[in-house]
Amino acid sequence: MVLRQVILSGSGRSSDWCRPVNCREKCGACCIAPSINTPIPGMPDGKPAGVRCIHLDANNACELFGQAVRPQFCVDLMPEPAMCGDDRTQALHYLAVLEEITR
Ligand code: SF4
Ligand code: SF4
Repeated sequence: MVLRQVILSGSGRSSDWCRPVNCREKCGACCIAPSINTPIPGMPDGKPAGVRCIHLDANNACELFGQAVRPQFCVDLMPEPAMCGDDRTQALHYLAVLEEITR
């Protein structure tokens, strides 16, 4: 969970993040680029870096949003300028680099 710690250390966050207000639509970069080392429903071992979460829908939105089964990693991960960048490509790149240097 080193990557998570690095991302979360960058800004103050609360657990009541509302994706529609703060998150770029149809991005989904943080549901693909980072590894997740805790269970995800249907992915009991979490997921490797670069693998699309099975709960990311066709619009790159989380189909588990607002549900109790959504992993805590995802609840805690908040949008921030450094991670999200100006577009999805930047976010994917930033997260991939961060994943690599925190492996
Ligand atoms: S990288 Fe940022 S904008 Fe993209 S899905 Fe994650 S929180 Fe939203
Ligand atoms: S559970 Fe939802 S927020 Fe978490 S990685 Fe999967 S699609 Fe993204």
